[in-house]
Amino acid sequence: MKAMGFYKTGGPEVLQAVDVPDPMPGSSEITIRVDYTSINNLDVLMRSGGTKINFNLPHIPGSDISGRIELAGSEVKDFGVGERVVVNPVYGCGNCRQCKTGNEVICREWKVPGMHIWGSYGEVVKIPAATVIRPPKAFSPEELGCMPLCLSVSWRALHTVANAKEGEAVAIRGASGNAGIFAVLLAKAMGLKVIALTRSPQKKEKLLKIGADHVIDSEDEGRAASKEVLELTGGEGVDIVVDPLGSTLDDSIAMLKPKGRVVVFGTTAGTESTISIKNFYWKSASIFGVHNANKKELAEALEFAERKGIKPIIASKMKIKEAEQAHRLFSQSSQFGKILMKHEW
Ligand SMILES: [Zn+2]
Repeated sequence: MKAMGFYKTGGPEVLQAVDVPDPMPGSSEITIRVDYTSINNLDVLMRSGGTKINFNLPHIPGSDISGRIELAGSEVKDFGVGERVVVNPVYGCGNCRQCKTGNEVICREWKVPGMHIWGSYGEVVKIPAATVIRPPKAFSPEELGCMPLCLSVSWRALHTVANAKEGEAVAIRGASGNAGIFAVLLAKAMGLKVIALTRSPQKKEKLLKIGADHVIDSEDEGRAASKEVLELTGGEGVDIVVDPLGSTLDDSIAMLKPKGRVVVFGTTAGTESTISIKNFYWKSASIFGVHNANKKELAEALEFAERKGIKPIIASKMKIKEAEQAHRLFSQSSQFGKILMKHEW
């Protein structure tokens, strides 16, 4: 099969067309002929060598997978060849207590396509059948290529972990990023008061348009956004902070109300943070970590998105053979929404 992969880590230029043998499914696996994928931060981390995990070369990135089943192993009963499916971007061993209770995201052996195994920059992906779902009819194959990873993580953060309730206030950091946009769309549809934080003033109007009630457009890791959030909320703060930036944790705690919760699901601004313990425990605050979502949560999130009319924002449509240019565009951070790539050679 053809794929866009790399033999060494580095800049976007290391991405090149590679020809590798078609993957063959094991008895409980399927292969999927990929129609669409989209760029996530993880793809860039893998390409640049920033993940600190071991993987074989050539590597094929890509964690968002929209396509049809091409081959199914002998034990696969629930899905048939030719069916359109969408893949949850994490799966577990399938045998441990966590996997058996639908909590594969904290299986000790969790794996992500495009990270631990070859991903959707290849024409065909091999994956355990247990990791796919039938998508709701409301979404096109293109849209599904943009949704799984960022939608499901934002859903897990707001719904499962923070247990967001209608009427609560949420501050969304990195709101103009891939996951941030989904978090804004979901939070608004959940009936939350949404304060979007971004460091891109040119994206303010777009964030207001998709549902943010307020936008603070001067977010910077070195600057206290909490001061502005507290001013905006009459000194009260917010119930929830969604934080994909990581190193901003102390400032995120500072913008919380008493009993507030911070959900960290990324380290795009840095992996270290020193926090004021006093600030944290005097507020009876909670800090949660989220790195991916369970298949059940992807299904819930897609169903919620269908019911509420939420669609992904697609900023650019490119071909998979243009992956190098697509990664360059992604690194400029000038786009608002996902960069979709079609499997066209
Ligand atoms: Zn497991």
